Amino acid sequence: MLSLTVLGATGSIGASTLDVVARHPDRYRVFALSGNRRVDDLAALCVRFAPRYAAVPDAEPARRLRALLRAAGCTTEVLDGPDSLAQISAAPEVDAVMAAIVGAAGLAPTLAAARRGKRILLANKEALVMAGPVFVAAARDAGAVVLPIDSEHNAIFQCLPADVQGDARAMPAAGVRRILLTASGGPFRTRPLAQMHTVTPDEACAHPNWSMGRKISVDSATMMNKGLELIEAHLLFGLPQERIEIVVHPQSVIHSMVEYLDGSVLAQLGNPDMRTPIAHALAYPERIASGVGALDLPALGRLDFEPPDPVRFPCLRLAREALAAGAAGPCVLNAANEVAVEAFLAGRIAFPDIAATDEAVLAALGHRPSPADVAGVLALDAEARSLAQSRIERCAR
Ligand code: NAD
Ligand code: MG
Repeated sequence: MLSLTVLGATGSIGASTLDVVARHPDRYRVFALSGNRRVDDLAALCVRFAPRYAAVPDAEPARRLRALLRAAGCTTEVLDGPDSLAQISAAPEVDAVMAAIVGAAGLAPTLAAARRGKRILLANKEALVMAGPVFVAAARDAGAVVLPIDSEHNAIFQCLPADVQGDARAMPAAGVRRILLTASGGPFRTRPLAQMHTVTPDEACAHPNWSMGRKISVDSATMMNKGLELIEAHLLFGLPQERIEIVVHPQSVIHSMVEYLDGSVLAQLGNPDMRTPIAHALAYPERIASGVGALDLPALGRLDFEPPDPVRFPCLRLAREALAAGAAGPCVLNAANEVAVEAFLAGRIAFPDIAATDEAVLAALGHRPSPADVAGVLALDAEARSLAQSRIERCAR
């Protein structure tokens, strides 16, 4: 029995995780769930999965959750406060933590799991990107196994030889020449450039292949998601960015590829459904059913590829510049982007202002020295957010 904490249980990845878990009651026990504002949803999950704890950061939603659970006769204990998420990640009873909170809010509990040497199922790419080497070192020092949930990184992991899968330092010896990260190109791959400033939040969130939370959906539309994934791949697999290529593949069937020195290219394919990488990471190194249907290649007929358009998607260049700048670059780029996406979703700025905000903040702060520890990461993150906010105030509609 694997005892599991699901951070971000009320989100899209949280739902897919619990769907897979529910298929295997003999293998997984839910120790704790976390949510934020969707208290009714969290209460329903507590009733269904009967975790020992549920954690929400703020006191008022926690009060409402307690009342709902009492009324339902559910004995799950509700924790709140700033440390409650780290508490349910680091508890000695926990074997594995699904890190599926969106954004920087996931850093503290994911890091707490890393420091306790837990198996980390990492969906929350922002936490890794913002803390970079600090996160990687914490996981390595405590012997935490980080299994990527992001479909691209999970695919790469699956295409690597078993003896280097969990160890970026072993990669050079494995004969890997390049990583090929696939990208769908999002909903605006072919939209006339002149119309990009009229894009609405709902249009940006209407991803052609994947159903996801709103923040990552906007990131997919700007392709900042692929930029963050480039940084994520560099951190997880230890390859320099010159050896990580981005290929647009509109069908999202090949989830990514690894090219070897002898010219072999290994790919992982599947229907675009996050339950596949989640099941892979939950059961690793075994395989379990995920509920995802078989891939019907004849029905698909063809798979297409094209290079990404650097004019349409400036965020890809920004991610490369951020990586080249050192560890401060990804941290400030991520912070600026979180603030800009939130402002776009709130209707305060236009779609192209997201990349413009990211670029301005990266140019101002990206060349700072690499943060030495978590306190340094958080200070730089806060400074970048505040600069992004003030720039947004100036250009807000
Ligand atoms: P989502 O918006 O559907 O869910 C986010 C979850 O985080 C919710 O449970 C919410 O309650 C919680 N949360 C939000 N803000 C919080 C805060 N301040 N404190 C505590 N909890 C908070 O997002 P998602 O699509 O499930 O994505 C989650 C993460 O997984 C993101 O980092 C995303 O990039 C990554 N990811 C998602 C997908 C996907 O298919 N959805 C694919 C790859 C990677
Ligand atoms: Mg992805």
